[in-house]
Amino acid sequence: MPDLRKKWVLFLTLVLLVTVPISTAQASVRDKPSSLGELRKKYSETFKFRGPDTKQVALTFDDGPDPRFTPQILEILSQKGAKATFFVVGARAKKFPALLERMHREGHVIGNHSFNHPPFRKRTVKQFVSEIERTEQVVERTVGYRPKLIRPPYGEINEEQVKWAKANGYKIVNWNVDSLDWKGLNKEQIKANVLQATGPGAIILLHAGGGVGSDLSGTIEALPDIIETLRAKGYEFVDLAELLQTSASR
Ligand SMILES: [Zn+2]
Repeated sequence: MPDLRKKWVLFLTLVLLVTVPISTAQASVRDKPSSLGELRKKYSETFKFRGPDTKQVALTFDDGPDPRFTPQILEILSQKGAKATFFVVGARAKKFPALLERMHREGHVIGNHSFNHPPFRKRTVKQFVSEIERTEQVVERTVGYRPKLIRPPYGEINEEQVKWAKANGYKIVNWNVDSLDWKGLNKEQIKANVLQATGPGAIILLHAGGGVGSDLSGTIEALPDIIETLRAKGYEFVDLAELLQTSASR
């Protein structure tokens, strides 16, 4: 009997040794959240980060409207006759509706950048939807349409949220050229970051607003040169609806 018991113990130990690592490995593969790169591939029609290979590029301005910076940016775009896309934060849009109206009146596209700028990946789908819908209501009330284009704060989003966006006719739009202007960089640094990385179909990330103490004077100083330099290379500035051949509203 002790022999038989020993054999059993040995057998069970072997079974455990073989099966536990396999099942743990499977569980970790299954539970691992998809990376943004994987999500972009899997949902390529919904999740964009650049446009088609044409001589068009899109300037996108996040985090506005902000009376400290947005009017100057609008002024430059108007002087240069360039169209852009503004991903607005709902709470700020609610506070500064005249700036939102001006973006719209001057021909720019308005996108949804959440209501309170939380990291979506850490929020439930319900919280995510609430952030989208609250901003949507402010934008619709002010300029008359519900934005189709969503840019998640920090570019972060999870699979459930992308699925919801797809099912409800939205597009998630990140970028492939990062100016890093939110760091308060100077004109030359911002120009270099943008001009070195911009190619056909580029979606360029800049900011039109920020938190307390943020300084976007580098963005404002760099913008005319960025537009002129890229135009001299044959690029046309279009809004994201045109670049992605979609509509601005749902
Ligand atoms: Zn942002």
